Amino acid sequence: MKNKLHILYTAAEAAPYSKAGGLADVAGSLPPSLVQSGCRLSVISPLYGSIDRSRQKLTGPVFKDQVSLGSDVQPFAVYQAFARNVTWIFISNEYFFSRPGIYTTADGIGFHDNTARYIFFQKAILACIMKGYLKADILHVNDHHTALLPWMLKNRGIKIPTLLTIHNCMYQGQFTDDESRLLDTCDRDFMVSGSLNRNALDIGMRYADSINTVSRTYRDELVSRPELSYGLHPTILKIKDRFTGILNGADYQYWNPEQDRMIAENYSVNSISRKEKNKLQLLNTAGLPADAAKPLLGSISRQVESKGFFLILDIMEKLIKLDCLFVFLGTGDIRIMTMLGKMAEKYPNQVAVVQEYNEGLAHQIEAGADMFLMPSEYEPCGLNQIYSLKYGTPPIVHKTGGLADTVIRWDGQTGNGFVFDDYSSAALFNETERALTVFQMADWKKIIRNAMTADFSWDQSAKQYLSLYNSILSMGTK
Ligand code: ADP
Repeated sequence: MKNKLHILYTAAEAAPYSKAGGLADVAGSLPPSLVQSGCRLSVISPLYGSIDRSRQKLTGPVFKDQVSLGSDVQPFAVYQAFARNVTWIFISNEYFFSRPGIYTTADGIGFHDNTARYIFFQKAILACIMKGYLKADILHVNDHHTALLPWMLKNRGIKIPTLLTIHNCMYQGQFTDDESRLLDTCDRDFMVSGSLNRNALDIGMRYADSINTVSRTYRDELVSRPELSYGLHPTILKIKDRFTGILNGADYQYWNPEQDRMIAENYSVNSISRKEKNKLQLLNTAGLPADAAKPLLGSISRQVESKGFFLILDIMEKLIKLDCLFVFLGTGDIRIMTMLGKMAEKYPNQVAVVQEYNEGLAHQIEAGADMFLMPSEYEPCGLNQIYSLKYGTPPIVHKTGGLADTVIRWDGQTGNGFVFDDYSSAALFNETERALTVFQMADWKKIIRNAMTADFSWDQSAKQYLSLYNSILSMGTK
């Protein structure tokens, strides 16, 4: 029997074990789909303090070792679980990973030692590979947290081909000269001789055998719009021939109104009228009047500038005059959080703001809102608009990145949502006003049906990853 291709998939977060954002959704759902496409998958992530070992059925330690970080030595132990035909591997270390947060404190402040934490994590993975505990045909790394690994392998002559996936080019993992002392001497020497920037994503792009990002449009935008790569455009141009875009998929086991246990009433494309019960329940939970006739706009998002919040804030009062209701879930930039909080205080009967991480409420917003607001300035892929489509909650999006690849503008005949071109509050307002008009018409049901029947499951994307893995293998590592 032909040996299955063994992929070692590294990520700083992987749902359901740990989650701060979209990376966790992908690391939790792409690997099981790749197994269905015929690969063998091991996913390696840190054992954060919030992971319940017994509930998640972790066994171990199955391997122990230590790594040096400058003058310090840190031990680590490896635990593992087997679920959905994937081996989930966890690196445990008391000092770096026992705290409950992933990247930040409960107040949202980034840990001061995040660079050290992920250099440690990568060194532990490297130690597992060098000691023979971890083997793989391909090492698939994600974002800056594990982007140094392709370079670390090459510096040591380890010939495992590598793929780097960029989930968001804005977060690059820059480190200081002092922090570079945490690297091994051989890596520091290579850094100096190769005149490399102290930037993990930059180094990852230069040394990975192949690089991809999470939608075709974002890939093309990174090549054509220098401002989107935040200083890395020269590197993007250098690697563009081995840089591709593969759209993320959704985990429809977990994000599916037909079987979602977190929503008030299950429904399908054949029972759309049942969605209303979810709206009433959401209005009740959010403390808004139970008026099902008024359009309810939902948002689940990190509340940061790039997600389009200043555009939303600009037009909110005009939409409030049009009788719109709003539910916002998310945390982020303190300025934006404060401005949204003030809107909720000023319009308690129309605006509800929940500023926490709340998985259940996220599902209830997908099911209960009439429209989903996602006017991001740029969006590598975006998952919430894909979930909204599945829940029959047409998204209102800016035409960029993965939003452009998944939402088709309603033109009176076809389409599954509302899309505006120009990144301005006027354009967002016009398109939202158009959505509000269609909301009153019989056509609204057609849009809901189109949205719910669009298929963004992982099957297609997993096949594209498989063919990318095969092409990397056939090229061989340089
Ligand atoms: P990001 O840029 O943050 O990764 P995505 O749309 O790709 O954006 O993915 C965000 C993921 O995080 C989605 O699964 C979304 O539902 C979830 N999420 C974001 N904020 C919250 C929150 N406050 N509570 C629950 N889930 C959240």
